Amino acid sequence: MQLYKNQDIKIYNSLSGKKEPFQTITDGYVGMYVCGPTVYSHVHLGNVRTFMSFDMVFRYLKHLGYKVRYVRNITDAGHLENDADAGEDKITKKARLEEIEPMEVVQRYTVDFHNILNLFNFLPPSIEPTATGHIIEQIELIKTIIDNGFAYEVNGSVYFDVHKYNETNNYGILSKRKLEDLIHNTRELDGQSDKKSPQDFALWKKAEPQHIMRWPSPWSDGFPGWHLECTAMSTKYLGDHFDIHGGGMDLKFPHHECEIAQNQAAKGQSPVNYWMHANMLELNGARMSKSTGNIINPTELLTGHNDIMSKAYSPSVIRFFMMQAGYRSVLDLTDAGLSASEKGFNRLLEAISELESLNASEKSTLDIESWKQKCYDAMNDDFNTPILIAHLFDAVKYINQIKEGSQSISATDLNTFKTTLHAFVFEVLGLTNTTEAAADTDKLTGAVNVLIKLRQEARANKNFALSDQIRDELAEAGIQLKDSRDGTSFSVN
Ligand SMILES: [Zn+2]
Repeated sequence: MQLYKNQDIKIYNSLSGKKEPFQTITDGYVGMYVCGPTVYSHVHLGNVRTFMSFDMVFRYLKHLGYKVRYVRNITDAGHLENDADAGEDKITKKARLEEIEPMEVVQRYTVDFHNILNLFNFLPPSIEPTATGHIIEQIELIKTIIDNGFAYEVNGSVYFDVHKYNETNNYGILSKRKLEDLIHNTRELDGQSDKKSPQDFALWKKAEPQHIMRWPSPWSDGFPGWHLECTAMSTKYLGDHFDIHGGGMDLKFPHHECEIAQNQAAKGQSPVNYWMHANMLELNGARMSKSTGNIINPTELLTGHNDIMSKAYSPSVIRFFMMQAGYRSVLDLTDAGLSASEKGFNRLLEAISELESLNASEKSTLDIESWKQKCYDAMNDDFNTPILIAHLFDAVKYINQIKEGSQSISATDLNTFKTTLHAFVFEVLGLTNTTEAAADTDKLTGAVNVLIKLRQEARANKNFALSDQIRDELAEAGIQLKDSRDGTSFSVN
């Protein structure tokens, strides 16, 4: 679809602190990398929001006709507990607690992550590489950084030399930190570390004897530092310099700062044109945190099994709620907020279904083309979904006015109106029509009940061949009948 490619997008670039016109490196193509989850526990709702923001960006760019290669990694190599370069890694810790293999932890929570994202109607990324699948690339990268003089080996571990790097580059370019301030604010742990300076970060760590996840390397049997995998995987699939790098605000420092340093040190250039950071999700006005109990996970929110919300909320309502805030704003998750979003979302869906029964007139009294452009303008302005949604509610108002006869719409405009509204609600915002899904379930129940009745009649007439046939063929179609004293019920597999 080449149709909308001429839209002028502006993206807020964390690197410059400004909204900048979006220009791709290769015309019509976008390379986008987003830091994925560390798969050692259930995905955090805040991370769902971050990934949803980039799912929306991915969807909009695709909608405009760009060919997007979206790479989102899985961190499965187990980086260290406190993000310093010492201590136990998160995956191994979980494996020990649950008495399973580290790779079982990885498998369990990768599947869980995909299941949750599917519930929220995420598009799969184009490539989802794993850190453990790219150990060779990471080792090669370390060799290059050492050869270029920006890393050093001590006792089987390799560290990035931040001070050396800062002589010719700017460590702090993204996070706007100054190395002098970092030095001032770092407390040296009484000489426990092999590092030349506390700001240096590990590219490779020699594994302690009890460390399970380990690989051979020229320096030791060990494992890569956390920041390295993203440089290895982003450049492998998107090239040494690509369009967009995204992640949560909390990754800006040190993770993304270190990615820039590694790329400069290994490839001699900055990796990314546009750095995008999605903001945090709070709960009832406070930071979500396990220790204070102010926390809710996606499943608890969806099932209603929690002490925080008054009821369960559907994935589309939660998605709609999240899209009602800009991705760069802090969003406060509250029961009142979700409940208001639910009402709003239902109003939108009702209007969309009423759109189908609207009659076209000779002439339009509404300016549909300008409404449509306003929707694009909102998204072009750094993906401003709250403004887009305000325009979608204007559409709801228009639909009611056309229905009442106070406004009219031509056949051509009606067609544009339908196509645009559907595109933004379902394709770009990724919402699903829950009323349609409910209607489908009702139809299925109706059809199966007809068959159950026919089977009862066959049994009453002692035509057991037919009654068995109905049961067996339904089973083959994935519908199990269960007979009990109260009658027959069914379940769908
Ligand atoms: Zn990353």
